[in-house]
Amino acid sequence: MFYQHPQRFDSIIGKFSRVSLWTLVWVISCLQVRATVAACQDETASTDKNVVVREVKFRDGEQLRQVLGEVLVEAVDGGILLQGTDGRQWAIQPEEIENSRDVSEPLKPMTNDEMEKAMLAELPGGFSALRTDHYLIMYNTTKAYSQWTGNLLERLYKAHFAFWKKKGVELVEPRFPLVAIIFDTKESYREYASKELGDSVDAIIGYYHLQSNRITMFDLTGVEGLLPNNAKVSRNVLLNEVLRQPGAERTVATIVHEAFHQLAYNTGLQVRLADNPFWVSEGMAVYFESPDFSSSQGWSTIGKVNQYNLREFSNYLRQRPADSLVTLLSDDQRFRNPATSTAAYAEAWALNYYLLRRRSKEYAEYLTFLAAKPPLGQSDPKVRIEEFKKYFGADLQKFDQQFLNYITTQVR
Ligand SMILES: [Zn+2]
Repeated sequence: MFYQHPQRFDSIIGKFSRVSLWTLVWVISCLQVRATVAACQDETASTDKNVVVREVKFRDGEQLRQVLGEVLVEAVDGGILLQGTDGRQWAIQPEEIENSRDVSEPLKPMTNDEMEKAMLAELPGGFSALRTDHYLIMYNTTKAYSQWTGNLLERLYKAHFAFWKKKGVELVEPRFPLVAIIFDTKESYREYASKELGDSVDAIIGYYHLQSNRITMFDLTGVEGLLPNNAKVSRNVLLNEVLRQPGAERTVATIVHEAFHQLAYNTGLQVRLADNPFWVSEGMAVYFESPDFSSSQGWSTIGKVNQYNLREFSNYLRQRPADSLVTLLSDDQRFRNPATSTAAYAEAWALNYYLLRRRSKEYAEYLTFLAAKPPLGQSDPKVRIEEFKKYFGADLQKFDQQFLNYITTQVR
């Protein structure tokens, strides 16, 4: 049960809870930023001549750190959001800054070699690195499991670029190495992840962390009775068999879901810390995650009907309020409330299924519009609705009817 709805929490994981930083001048609207979201359009930062590169010495709790990074946001009170060479984003309060100096050279993102070295120094002992075409996988479980995960991630990577190209959305290559961390057991994962997840750690089997830009998970072959607890398979071929079992469906879905978030924020589809409605971020991630067990990898294509969420949405339809679409679009409350989040995820999946299949041109334009928003903005509910109407028509009731018709007749 502990991994039944892991995705519910993932995108809201980070440490940006120190609010005073967000009293910024040049960013629209009041900056009651969600406690956790992270930061800025990476691909523009690299080419934007106005980006300030700064070396900052600051106190991070007990530690004194020195970070060279791009200033993504500077607050009136002197607080900054700094993006380091590893892609990590630091929210630094003015009183934490010991000293700083601007640097004239543009920021050089870490190479894979540098990232690997940094990760080995940061992680507990016993980790090894596995390089795939686009990922750096840090693991202390079997190599076979890491390779299996690497294959899955690479398939997603290629499918992601092909999918959005077809939809007319232009993506960019990631600027920072994409890091995935795999722990051998739930216990070792728990020890590490609880620093980032707090008490939610037991409900989450994998996550994308907006601040560090990494995905973290643990070897899942022992869960859900697929193998005796903590047993590991050492051969890839056997692993494929294990993860093709129906019990592994949500497991594979979770990995793809989190990896999708990482890709979305690293390829220009979305901007960390911008006002990304949850129905967009989560609905797309759920749309991507649907496993396909005809594939030996447990996942091969994008956008198969997500049976799990279809079932949840069908249940929800029996008592779906008339203003359901409006509340879904307006703000993220339904996702944050544990009592309503399952239905919110299901509805977000259904809405993305409809938009990506029937209204993909408008949806692509809407996504491009969202990706151009400045970081740290927060739209009020009315603005979100107006923006939606601009792309999908002023008559929400008519839209809702078309959406429901499609889902109830096409999907079954
Ligand atoms: Zn998610």
